[in-house]
Amino acid sequence: MNLSIIIPLLNEQDSLEELFTRIDTVCQTNKLSYEVWFIDDGSTDLSWSIIENLKIQHPQIHGIKFSKNYGKSQALHAAFEKVNGDVIITMDADLQDFPEEIPELYEMVKVGNYDIVSGWKKKRFDNVMTKNIPSKLFNSAARKVSGVSLHDFNCGLKAYKKQVVKSIDVYGDMHRYIPVLAANAGFRNITEKPVQHQARPYGTSKFGTERFVRGFLDLVTLWFVSRFGGRPMHFFGAAGTVMFIIGFLSAIWLGLSKLIDVYIFKIYGNLIANNPWFFIALTMMIMGSLLFVAGFLGELIIRTNREHKNYHIEELI
Ligand code: UDP
Ligand code: MG
Repeated sequence: MNLSIIIPLLNEQDSLEELFTRIDTVCQTNKLSYEVWFIDDGSTDLSWSIIENLKIQHPQIHGIKFSKNYGKSQALHAAFEKVNGDVIITMDADLQDFPEEIPELYEMVKVGNYDIVSGWKKKRFDNVMTKNIPSKLFNSAARKVSGVSLHDFNCGLKAYKKQVVKSIDVYGDMHRYIPVLAANAGFRNITEKPVQHQARPYGTSKFGTERFVRGFLDLVTLWFVSRFGGRPMHFFGAAGTVMFIIGFLSAIWLGLSKLIDVYIFKIYGNLIANNPWFFIALTMMIMGSLLFVAGFLGELIIRTNREHKNYHIEELI
């Protein structure tokens, strides 16, 4: 099979039939064999029964129905495990992406040999204040953090080589940063293609303002994991050691000056605890040891996880 098309959806009853008809037409015109995976992420409208009806006439349709709304990342994850095509395409269900882009995306992966071709909504039809401007900021932050130079990380329309979706683990809200996950997994042949975009014809956006907070925290996680995920001791151990040494030297200095006061200058009234450095030294030593232990635990956790397959073998002879 040439193509697997993955469509996560939440309450998109009005778009599904038109979306499938357009996909079917464009694939037939271009002689592409394909399957479509609809993932119903806990819809409460008629979406699932529409998918069931479509399935009766079109055996190339598959559906996954979640018992509740788990989020777009989980929907993609479930489909990534199932798909069989050589090239995998993801797209949103709301008709904002154009199915007519599919053949060209397919060619770029198949012939152009890219790991990922990511859509770029160059001319975007969303609210300027709540979507377009924040998304510019996010994209530039993501470029800096990841070193992957894409204009539009979170475009729903993307094409992948099969190995890519089989190797990455989309969790939490990480669907926003799939190209970064892929790059961290060693798939660095990533490019983008300007794609058409239109305003949402039916329904409303499923992501509210909470996406700013989540998007930002996920970016911090990504930065940290890609820098220190494989060697937590290098971060925690280093910070912990520096703090502990500062604390320890301060404590020695405090103790020595107390001894000097008592035995040389015969001053008895100065309590060590009156000196602010006493508290600094104490805190530094406690925090330093805690950081060190955190790094050590991190290393142990990694060691256990390495038992599981966490790599992708490109060739085997
Ligand atoms: N979606 C989903 N689960 C969710 C939220 C969204 O499957 O929890 C789907 C949604 O139905 C759509 C796609 O993800 O097909 C993109 O969502 P939306 O169009 O609301 O995002 P926007 O275009 O506003 O960024
Ligand atoms: Mg949309």
